Parts: sequence; C-alpha cells; structure tokens
Amino acid sequence: MEVKTKLEEIISNIEAASHRSNRNSEDVNVIAVTKYVSVERAKEAVEAGITHLGENRQEGLVEKVAAFEHQPVWHFIGTLQSRKVKDVIDHVDYIHSLDRRSLAKEINKRATKKVKCFVQVNVSGEESKHGLAVEQVMPFVESLENYPNIEVVGLMTMAPHIKDPDEIRFVFKKLRELRTSIQERSFDYAPCKELSMGMSNDYEIAVEEGATFVRIGSSLVG
Ligand SMILES: *Cc1c(COP(=O)(O)O)cnc(C)c1O
Repeated sequence: MEVKTKLEEIISNIEAASHRSNRNSEDVNVIAVTKYVSVERAKEAVEAGITHLGENRQEGLVEKVAAFEHQPVWHFIGTLQSRKVKDVIDHVDYIHSLDRRSLAKEINKRATKKVKCFVQVNVSGEESKHGLAVEQVMPFVESLENYPNIEVVGLMTMAPHIKDPDEIRFVFKKLRELRTSIQERSFDYAPCKELSMGMSNDYEIAVEEGATFVRIGSSLVG
C-alpha cells in the first residue's frame, strides 16, 4: 500500500485519539521509522508529507542521509554505542536513547551544536530493554547539568510487546508523570516538554496519554 494512504489513516487515528483526550493533534509529531525499508520508501514518506524520519543504526542513517538532497528532521532512535557517536552526531537532530553518563559525555564532547536528547526510560523493567529505571531518571537528569551541548527535550520509552491495553497505558502514563516531576524542577538545560512514545501497535494509547512524538515503522512504511 502507498505510504500516503497509510499516513492518512494514521493521522485520522491520531486526530481521534487527541479528541478523546482533549488534546490538539497538532502537538503530535509522526516520526516515520525507516530502519527496515529502502531509501525509495523513505522518500515516498517524505513526499506524502512526513517531515521527521527515524533510524536506529548508524549505517542505515548514513545511507539514507546521503540519499536526500534536502534533509528531513532526523531522529536517532536506537541504542547508541559511545564509539559511534562521532559518526552520527552531525547527521541527527534528535537522539532518543540517552541512558548513561558515558554516552552523555561523548555526545557533549563530539557535538558541534546543542543536541536535543530524550532520556530513555525502561518503565516496564523488562530485562531485554534499554533505558534507565524510573527511580534513576531524576538523579541522571540532575547529573547532566555540566554538559552544555546536551538539551534534555523529553523522555522516551517503549511499551512491552503485550496485548493488554491497560498495562501499556500504565507505562505511558508513568512516563508522563515522570516528565511532570522533571518539569517542576525547572532545569534550564532540561525543559523536558516532549514525550517520545507509541509505535505501530500502541500509538493511539500513547497519544491519549500525551505523546508528542510517535515513532511508527511497520504500519506506515512497512
Ligand atoms: C523499530 C522501532 C520503532 C518502530 O516500530 P514499529 O513497530 O515498526 O512501528 C519505534 N521505536 C523504536 C525505538 C524502534 O526501534
């Protein structure tokens, strides 16, 4: 199916979810996750109106960046090894996977401008998932004060792969509450306005719970 058709359906679902939760759907940005698809498919997404693209590997990012003449807004959404920071930093606008001091240090060192970062949180506590435990998030954000090239724009999480919508909702709600507690601290380097949450299977719940960035791969470009 054409990306355009799929995007129309996703946008209409986001509008409905926003309406249900008294939100403005314009506050929800769709990131097309292109990690499994070709450059041509990624370009089709941009032609359909997508302005944000996401990749989870350095190789995929570099390949796609090279293929675009006018760059979309690039999001790095995958686990980032410190040694790869220098290879991605000049290509990305947002990093969604900040989850440790050593990575913060490397981003701060290699950055040539302020980098917008999401702190990744493992709300569900699954061992297979990256990210900080909920109780580690505040001390971690506090510790980022002396990294002038890092701006903590928000929090990111992945919900577990389960069917129970209540359990998924709990995870997103928890991330939102965590965002509120960080915002209350008014850190100038961590405005923490954004919530990056929701994928193909759960983005409607994420929007109901306050997502400002949804990361959609298979149901949009797949
Ligand atoms: C792959 C990926 C997505 C998109 O997943 P879909 O289920 O295909 O929508 C979103 N976020 C992250 C971090 C991913 O790795």
